[in-house]
Amino acid sequence: LIHFYKRRLNEEKMVKNFQTLRGIQSPVGKSPAPARGRRRSISSKTGSSSASKPGAGPSIAANINVAVRVRPENAREEAGCQRNIINVIDKNMLVFDPQDEDEGSFFFKGKRQGMRDLNKKAKKDKTFTFDNVYSPGSTNDEVFQGTTKNVVTTLFDGYNCCVFAYGATGSGKTHTMLGSQDNPGIVFMTMREIFDRVDLKEDTNFEIFLSYLEVYNETVRDLLTLDQTKTLKVREDNKQTTSIPGLSVHKPKDPDEILQLLSYGNSNRSQHPTDHNKESSR
Ligand code: ADP
Ligand code: MG
Repeated sequence: LIHFYKRRLNEEKMVKNFQTLRGIQSPVGKSPAPARGRRRSISSKTGSSSASKPGAGPSIAANINVAVRVRPENAREEAGCQRNIINVIDKNMLVFDPQDEDEGSFFFKGKRQGMRDLNKKAKKDKTFTFDNVYSPGSTNDEVFQGTTKNVVTTLFDGYNCCVFAYGATGSGKTHTMLGSQDNPGIVFMTMREIFDRVDLKEDTNFEIFLSYLEVYNETVRDLLTLDQTKTLKVREDNKQTTSIPGLSVHKPKDPDEILQLLSYGNSNRSQHPTDHNKESSR
């Protein structure tokens, strides 16, 4: 929690610095970021920690939204008839490691017994709530509408924004963020939203820049340069400003160009999916 507070303080400083840069006064006596999102409340049916209660603790993460997207089973999982360990309940709730229908009661000599079969490992059967939960049938557009679309409004209010996708390899990060030509991801949709809003605000000057880098095995590389052998250094000065000298900066003219740059960058990644190492061997 302390670590989190510290990070929050740094974030507030960043927001303030950014506002000073733009010549905007920071709102006095107000939290710098708008309380747009609800606090992440992870609750657990069986857990007993106080953090598991929604509403416990100070509301310091009100400007963070946490969404979970559950992807459909892939061909390998379907063929293996594996058990699904995530059960989406509704748009805010899922159960991790759900109990089987017939679990919790087992039969002995034709009679239902009031306890579970001790020979079987108990399922964790934990309920978690998030700001958004997307079921396997959800589309990239639905994810965009419920997550990063609102972030654009915050961005235009002059705040720093960050979207972070986290998950195991093959869980659907690239599918969600980048997508493909036929099925663009939320990066493309967010950029289209930004370009549309820029067009509407004729009285303000906007500049849109793009860089794409990879940190892989402690090595930082610019994914948008021709020389892919070059490595970069991340520097932090005494004002906690982070910079990466030598990182190329591009000025896309429309969302399509962003998508092209991102797919070019993606093909330069150390772990980019190719047909023969798709999903399973990555
Ligand atoms: P990651 O980037 O997290 O390693 P990918 O986005 O490459 O994972 O997803 C792995 C595979 O699963 C890809 O073939 C992708 O098309 C597919 N996939 C992921 N999420 C979905 C989804 N929501 N619907 C359909 N296919 C998906
Ligand atoms: Mg990926």
